[in-house]
Amino acid sequence: MCFYTLSLHKIISTAMKKIFTLVCFVLLTSWAFSQNEPINVIVFGAHPDDCDLDAGGTAILFAKMGHNVKFVSLTNGDAGHQDKGGGELARIRIAEAKEAGKRFGVEYSVLDNHDGELMPTLVNRLKVIREIRKWNADIVIAPRPNDYHPDHRYTGILVQDAAYMVIVPNVAPEVRPLTKNPVFLYSEDGFQKPNPLTPDIAVDIDEVFDQKIYALSAHESQFFEWLPWTMGILDQVPSDEKERLSFLANWRNKKPSSSTTECLKKWYGDKAAITNHAEIFEICEYGKQPTDEEILKLFPMLKK
Ligand SMILES: [Zn+2]
Repeated sequence: MCFYTLSLHKIISTAMKKIFTLVCFVLLTSWAFSQNEPINVIVFGAHPDDCDLDAGGTAILFAKMGHNVKFVSLTNGDAGHQDKGGGELARIRIAEAKEAGKRFGVEYSVLDNHDGELMPTLVNRLKVIREIRKWNADIVIAPRPNDYHPDHRYTGILVQDAAYMVIVPNVAPEVRPLTKNPVFLYSEDGFQKPNPLTPDIAVDIDEVFDQKIYALSAHESQFFEWLPWTMGILDQVPSDEKERLSFLANWRNKKPSSSTTECLKKWYGDKAAITNHAEIFEICEYGKQPTDEEILKLFPMLKK
């Protein structure tokens, strides 16, 4: 081998090494990036305060970990008060929702449908599909379609009807379809017929329970006026801000049921025995059916 051939060989081998190192670097960086990609969660409720109650603690945990959460209320809440109503009440409730959103660390959107009049129409279904697509959702949370309140029921129907349709390009073609059907989850309710909710995922929210209460308290017209009025306990609502928070905390304080504790055990092990506050979700059959491993990736707060 002559001198020139030798040096050419050396140059080529050095260049190959550099290219190999570069390729490895690019591959490793993109792998690391994909591991850290934020999870996009969208929660639907019928009224401005429903998402908060159903998934507020879970939302805080996601937001603290750098993930994206959006709450969408399908009505503007303009019927939820004993003294006020219409546009005036809608404005109050939109402002309360925005404040709650800040406290939860989530984006909050209130759609302009009248409270008490939500219907499972095609127009509303398309609105839900667009919201899910625009958020590029990995997880969609909504109530079950069996509930005491017609707005809650139809929110459940509308979101359930959006599952699968979110990937169909010819439906709402002006918004790019999702490439994968997200995981659709039902939020907790206490209804027993035709069947009680089966908890598939239970999130321990003890560490953020106080923050959830503080965020909920932004809905002053609901937790300190309207709901106590419907329950006949308006005279028990304290006026002092600190006392109001403990009033609300006592109100929302309920020990996990035995089925919730069972589910907590699956995801948290022995820690489940000392969990005081949890939010539970059932996997809807119409969305993606995640494996346990996929659930752990989608809910990084679940840790034994
Ligand atoms: Zn509601």
